[in-house]
This record gives sequence, structure tokens and C-alpha cells, in this order.
Amino acid sequence: GQEAMFGCLDFAPEQLPADKPRYLMGVGKPDDIVGAVKRGIDMMDCVLPSRSGRTGQVFTRNGVVNIKNARHADDPRPLDEACTCPACSKYSRAYLHHVFRSQEMISGMLLTWHNLHYFQEIMQGMRDAIAAGTFAAWEADFHAGRAQGDIEPL
Ligand SMILES: [Zn+2]
Repeated sequence: GQEAMFGCLDFAPEQLPADKPRYLMGVGKPDDIVGAVKRGIDMMDCVLPSRSGRTGQVFTRNGVVNIKNARHADDPRPLDEACTCPACSKYSRAYLHHVFRSQEMISGMLLTWHNLHYFQEIMQGMRDAIAAGTFAAWEADFHAGRAQGDIEPL
């Protein structure tokens, strides 16, 4: 679990050469990634953005959205109004819900596209915050957004 992983990461990165990149295999959810980078990890890989996208699970700055839920069936809003990915800028939750329920291939493609875009935004945000010396503030904003939860149903 996350607590055990963070316990290892509180110790392990300091044992590795400081001038070499630090790789963590198979991680993970957005808060796992942020916690790992906070503890000195430089890079990681995971199937989660694409596997979740194929199964209707989407990660947003306000937490997890399950597009298969009926609450999205008539919702004209995007997955995440602040996201600039093609799935959010061109398609509604209602459309994404419909194509997921219809088992259309485009569903997994669009939801994966959004998830990858979001994960890249997280990584870019952390890189920028580390360079600016503002990681703690960035992390607090990240957790505050995730704690809000998804927007209210219409
Ligand atoms: Zn998006």
C-alpha cells in the first residue's frame, strides 16, 4: 500500500547516487506520484492512465470520475473544465458516457488521452514548482483540489 511504499521511499532514495536518476516501477495514482517525487523519485511508469481510461475511470484535478455512472448521461459539461486535452475541450460527459456504455473504441481512446494529459500536467507542475522552490505550496494545492471531489451532478 501507499503507506508502506512511502515508508520505503523515506529511506531508499538517500541510499542511491545523487547524480543518477531515480526510477520507481509501476507507480501509480496521482497522489502516489506526487508523494514519490516529494521523496526524491525522478521518473516512474505505470499502465494506470491507459488501463483506467479503457475501464471508464478518469483522474482529474478534483479527484476520480467514473464516466460509466448514470449521473453523466445528460451532463453537457466536460470531464474537467480547466483541462485543455481534446477529450475535455471537444466532448461532453454525456457523449463520453454514451460511447463508453456503447463499448465504442473511441471511449477508451479519449479517456486515456485525458488521463495521460492530466498525468503530464502533474509532472510538469512538479518540475516547475521544484525549479521555483515552491513544491510545498504546489503539493498543498494539488491535495486541496483532489479533496474537493468531482463537481456536483446537474
Ligand atoms: Zn482532459
